[in-house]
Amino acid sequence: MVDVAKNLESVRKRIEAACERVGRDPSSVRLVAVTKTVPPEVIEEAIRCGVTDIGENRVQEARDKYEVIGGKVRWHMIGYLQRNKVKYAVKIFDVIHSVDRLELVNELEKRLSREGRRLPVLLEVNVAGEESKHGVAPDNLEELARSVLESPSLEPVGLMTIAPYVEDAEEVRWVFRRLRELRDELNESLQTGAFKELSMGMTNDFEVAIEEGATMVRIGTAIFGERD
Ligand SMILES: *Cc1c(COP(=O)(O)O)cnc(C)c1O
Repeated sequence: MVDVAKNLESVRKRIEAACERVGRDPSSVRLVAVTKTVPPEVIEEAIRCGVTDIGENRVQEARDKYEVIGGKVRWHMIGYLQRNKVKYAVKIFDVIHSVDRLELVNELEKRLSREGRRLPVLLEVNVAGEESKHGVAPDNLEELARSVLESPSLEPVGLMTIAPYVEDAEEVRWVFRRLRELRDELNESLQTGAFKELSMGMTNDFEVAIEEGATMVRIGTAIFGERD
Protein backbone atom coordinates (compact mmCIF):
# COMPACT_ATOMS: atom_id res chain seq x y z
CA MET A 1 0.00 0.00 0.00
CA VAL A 2 1.23 3.47 -0.82
CA ASP A 3 1.35 5.87 2.08
CA VAL A 4 -0.42 8.85 0.54
CA ALA A 5 -0.09 10.97 3.69
CA LYS A 6 3.68 10.44 3.88
CA ASN A 7 4.16 10.98 0.15
CA LEU A 8 2.18 14.22 0.26
CA GLU A 9 4.23 15.48 3.15
CA SER A 10 7.42 14.73 1.26
CA VAL A 11 6.15 16.42 -1.92
CA ARG A 12 5.11 19.51 0.04
CA LYS A 13 8.54 19.68 1.68
CA ARG A 14 10.23 19.44 -1.73
CA ILE A 15 7.97 22.21 -3.09
CA GLU A 16 8.91 24.41 -0.12
CA ALA A 17 12.61 23.70 -0.56
CA ALA A 18 12.49 24.54 -4.27
CA CYS A 19 10.67 27.80 -3.47
CA GLU A 20 13.23 28.66 -0.83
CA ARG A 21 16.11 28.19 -3.28
CA VAL A 22 14.74 30.94 -5.52
CA GLY A 23 13.10 33.15 -2.91
CA ARG A 24 9.50 32.31 -3.75
CA ASP A 25 6.54 32.06 -1.41
CA PRO A 26 5.37 28.39 -1.33
CA SER A 27 1.77 29.60 -1.35
CA SER A 28 2.38 30.81 -4.92
CA VAL A 29 2.61 27.17 -6.07
CA ARG A 30 -0.61 25.18 -6.29
CA LEU A 31 -0.29 21.43 -6.00
CA VAL A 32 -2.56 19.60 -8.43
CA ALA A 33 -2.63 15.94 -7.40
CA VAL A 34 -2.89 13.90 -10.60
CA THR A 35 -5.42 11.16 -9.89
CA LYS A 36 -5.71 9.41 -13.26
CA THR A 37 -6.01 5.63 -12.66
CA VAL A 38 -6.26 6.28 -8.89
CA PRO A 39 -9.45 4.82 -7.36
CA PRO A 40 -11.91 7.15 -5.58
CA GLU A 41 -11.18 5.79 -2.09
CA VAL A 42 -7.49 6.68 -2.46
CA ILE A 43 -8.43 10.11 -3.80
CA GLU A 44 -10.63 10.59 -0.72
CA GLU A 45 -7.62 9.74 1.44
CA ALA A 46 -5.59 12.42 -0.36
CA ILE A 47 -8.41 14.90 0.18
CA ARG A 48 -8.38 14.11 3.91
CA CYS A 49 -4.65 14.93 3.80
CA GLY A 50 -5.40 18.40 2.47
CA VAL A 51 -5.46 17.98 -1.31
CA THR A 52 -7.75 20.66 -2.79
CA ASP A 53 -7.03 20.24 -6.51
CA ILE A 54 -7.07 17.07 -8.58
CA GLY A 55 -6.02 16.51 -12.19
CA GLU A 56 -7.60 14.01 -14.57
CA ASN A 57 -6.74 13.34 -18.20
CA ARG A 58 -9.81 11.45 -19.40
CA VAL A 59 -13.31 12.86 -19.39
CA GLN A 60 -15.11 9.54 -18.95
CA GLU A 61 -12.92 8.53 -16.01
CA ALA A 62 -13.46 11.94 -14.43
CA ARG A 63 -17.23 11.65 -14.86
CA ASP A 64 -17.28 8.31 -13.05
CA LYS A 65 -15.19 9.67 -10.18
CA TYR A 66 -17.14 12.91 -10.02
CA GLU A 67 -20.24 10.90 -9.15
CA VAL A 68 -18.43 9.63 -6.05
CA ILE A 69 -16.30 12.60 -5.03
CA GLY A 70 -18.34 15.55 -6.23
CA GLY A 71 -17.46 19.21 -6.10
CA LYS A 72 -15.54 19.39 -2.83
CA VAL A 73 -12.25 19.71 -4.74
CA ARG A 74 -11.27 21.68 -7.84
CA TRP A 75 -11.21 19.48 -10.94
CA HIS A 76 -8.43 20.16 -13.45
CA MET A 77 -8.56 18.73 -16.97
CA ILE A 78 -4.94 18.11 -17.93
CA GLY A 79 -5.23 15.71 -20.87
CA TYR A 80 -6.03 15.94 -24.55
CA LEU A 81 -9.64 17.07 -24.89
CA GLN A 82 -11.62 15.66 -27.80
CA ARG A 83 -14.29 17.86 -29.28
CA ASN A 84 -17.05 15.33 -28.69
CA LYS A 85 -16.21 15.19 -24.95
CA VAL A 86 -16.45 18.93 -24.38
CA LYS A 87 -20.14 18.82 -23.52
CA TYR A 88 -19.38 16.52 -20.58
CA ALA A 89 -16.14 18.24 -19.59
CA VAL A 90 -17.83 21.60 -19.04
CA LYS A 91 -20.11 20.05 -16.42
CA ILE A 92 -17.26 18.68 -14.29
CA PHE A 93 -14.09 20.65 -14.63
CA ASP A 94 -13.19 23.91 -12.91
CA VAL A 95 -10.04 24.54 -14.98
CA ILE A 96 -8.88 23.25 -18.36
CA HIS A 97 -5.10 23.13 -18.87
CA SER A 98 -5.09 21.61 -22.33
CA VAL A 99 -6.61 24.13 -24.73
CA ASP A 100 -4.44 23.68 -27.82
CA ARG A 101 -6.44 24.49 -30.96
CA LEU A 102 -9.07 26.85 -32.37
CA GLU A 103 -11.62 24.10 -32.91
CA LEU A 104 -11.53 23.40 -29.18
CA VAL A 105 -11.88 27.06 -28.25
CA ASN A 106 -14.98 27.30 -30.41
CA GLU A 107 -16.54 24.14 -29.04
CA LEU A 108 -15.83 25.20 -25.44
CA GLU A 109 -17.37 28.61 -26.06
CA LYS A 110 -20.48 27.01 -27.56
CA ARG A 111 -21.00 24.51 -24.75
CA LEU A 112 -20.10 26.90 -21.92
CA SER A 113 -22.43 29.62 -23.11
CA ARG A 114 -25.19 27.01 -23.20
CA GLU A 115 -24.41 26.04 -19.60
CA GLY A 116 -24.13 29.66 -18.58
CA ARG A 117 -20.65 28.97 -17.20
CA ARG A 118 -17.35 30.77 -17.55
CA LEU A 119 -14.27 28.58 -17.22
CA PRO A 120 -10.61 29.40 -16.54
CA VAL A 121 -8.37 27.93 -19.23
CA LEU A 122 -4.68 27.51 -19.87
CA LEU A 123 -3.18 27.12 -23.32
CA GLU A 124 -1.03 24.02 -23.73
CA VAL A 125 2.17 24.80 -25.59
CA ASN A 126 4.40 22.21 -27.22
CA VAL A 127 7.58 24.05 -26.26
CA ALA A 128 9.99 21.25 -27.10
CA GLY A 129 8.34 20.53 -30.46
CA GLU A 130 7.89 16.83 -29.76
CA GLU A 131 5.92 15.11 -32.52
CA SER A 132 4.20 12.79 -30.05
CA LYS A 133 2.88 15.61 -27.87
CA HIS A 134 -0.19 17.77 -28.14
CA GLY A 135 -0.08 21.49 -27.61
CA VAL A 136 0.03 24.54 -29.83
CA ALA A 137 3.33 25.38 -31.53
CA PRO A 138 4.90 28.53 -30.04
CA ASP A 139 4.50 30.26 -33.44
CA ASN A 140 0.73 29.78 -33.33
CA LEU A 141 0.26 30.67 -29.67
CA GLU A 142 -0.65 34.31 -30.19
CA GLU A 143 -3.44 33.50 -32.63
CA LEU A 144 -4.89 30.93 -30.23
CA ALA A 145 -4.62 33.34 -27.31
CA ARG A 146 -6.49 36.01 -29.28
CA SER A 147 -9.34 33.62 -29.93
CA VAL A 148 -9.59 32.86 -26.20
CA LEU A 149 -9.58 36.56 -25.34
CA GLU A 150 -12.47 36.99 -27.80
CA SER A 151 -14.50 34.16 -26.24
CA PRO A 152 -16.68 35.55 -23.45
CA SER A 153 -17.15 32.17 -21.73
CA LEU A 154 -13.44 31.41 -21.55
CA GLU A 155 -11.26 33.07 -18.95
CA PRO A 156 -7.61 32.96 -20.03
CA VAL A 157 -5.41 32.40 -16.99
CA GLY A 158 -2.11 31.00 -18.21
CA LEU A 159 0.01 28.53 -20.12
CA MET A 160 0.78 24.85 -19.63
CA THR A 161 3.49 22.56 -20.94
CA ILE A 162 4.69 18.98 -20.61
CA ALA A 163 8.46 18.65 -20.79
CA PRO A 164 10.08 15.69 -22.53
CA TYR A 165 10.90 12.84 -20.19
CA VAL A 166 14.57 12.89 -19.21
CA GLU A 167 16.63 11.30 -16.45
CA ASP A 168 18.10 14.59 -15.32
CA ALA A 169 15.52 17.37 -15.04
CA GLU A 170 18.21 19.99 -15.60
CA GLU A 171 18.09 18.99 -19.26
CA VAL A 172 14.56 20.38 -19.56
CA ARG A 173 15.06 23.55 -17.53
CA TRP A 174 15.10 25.47 -20.81
CA VAL A 175 11.57 24.23 -21.61
CA PHE A 176 10.20 25.75 -18.40
CA ARG A 177 12.17 28.95 -18.86
CA ARG A 178 10.87 29.22 -22.42
CA LEU A 179 7.25 28.81 -21.29
CA ARG A 180 7.74 31.66 -18.82
CA GLU A 181 9.23 33.85 -21.57
CA LEU A 182 6.36 32.95 -23.92
CA ARG A 183 3.87 33.98 -21.23
CA ASP A 184 5.61 37.32 -20.71
CA GLU A 185 5.86 37.95 -24.47
CA LEU A 186 2.19 37.08 -24.91
CA ASN A 187 1.02 39.46 -22.20
CA GLU A 188 3.19 42.15 -23.76
CA SER A 189 2.08 41.66 -27.37
CA LEU A 190 -1.62 41.35 -26.49
CA GLN A 191 -1.48 44.15 -23.95
CA THR A 192 -3.00 42.00 -21.24
CA GLY A 193 -2.01 40.65 -17.87
CA ALA A 194 -4.44 37.77 -18.20
CA PHE A 195 -1.88 35.01 -18.66
CA LYS A 196 -0.46 34.67 -15.15
CA GLU A 197 -0.32 30.97 -14.42
CA LEU A 198 2.39 28.55 -15.48
CA SER A 199 1.25 24.92 -15.21
CA MET A 200 4.49 22.99 -15.48
CA GLY A 201 6.36 20.31 -13.59
CA MET A 202 5.51 16.67 -12.88
CA THR A 203 7.02 14.04 -10.56
CA ASN A 204 10.25 13.89 -12.49
CA ASP A 205 10.92 17.60 -12.90
CA PHE A 206 8.68 19.74 -10.64
CA GLU A 207 11.49 21.25 -8.58
CA VAL A 208 13.22 22.67 -11.66
CA ALA A 209 9.83 23.90 -12.94
CA ILE A 210 9.22 25.72 -9.65
CA GLU A 211 12.66 27.32 -9.83
CA GLU A 212 11.63 28.60 -13.27
CA GLY A 213 8.33 30.03 -12.06
CA ALA A 214 5.70 27.26 -12.06
CA THR A 215 2.50 28.35 -10.30
CA MET A 216 0.81 24.95 -10.70
CA VAL A 217 2.59 21.61 -10.51
CA ARG A 218 0.83 18.44 -11.65
CA ILE A 219 2.07 15.51 -9.59
CA GLY A 220 0.86 11.92 -9.71
CA THR A 221 3.52 9.26 -9.18
CA ALA A 222 5.27 10.95 -6.25
CA ILE A 223 1.95 10.96 -4.36
CA PHE A 224 0.16 7.80 -5.48
CA GLY A 225 3.09 5.61 -6.49
CA GLU A 226 3.86 3.93 -9.80
CA ARG A 227 0.61 2.87 -11.50
CA ASP A 228 -0.32 1.18 -14.75
C1 LIG B 1 0.11 11.93 -15.76
C2 LIG B 1 0.30 13.39 -15.92
C3 LIG B 1 0.98 14.14 -14.94
C4 LIG B 1 1.59 13.54 -13.69
O1 LIG B 1 2.70 12.77 -14.01
P1 LIG B 1 3.60 12.09 -12.89
O2 LIG B 1 4.88 11.85 -13.56
O3 LIG B 1 2.89 10.84 -12.48
O4 LIG B 1 3.70 13.06 -11.77
C5 LIG B 1 1.09 15.51 -15.15
N1 LIG B 1 0.58 16.11 -16.25
C6 LIG B 1 -0.06 15.41 -17.21
C7 LIG B 1 -0.59 16.14 -18.39
C8 LIG B 1 -0.22 14.04 -17.07
O5 LIG B 1 -0.86 13.35 -18.04
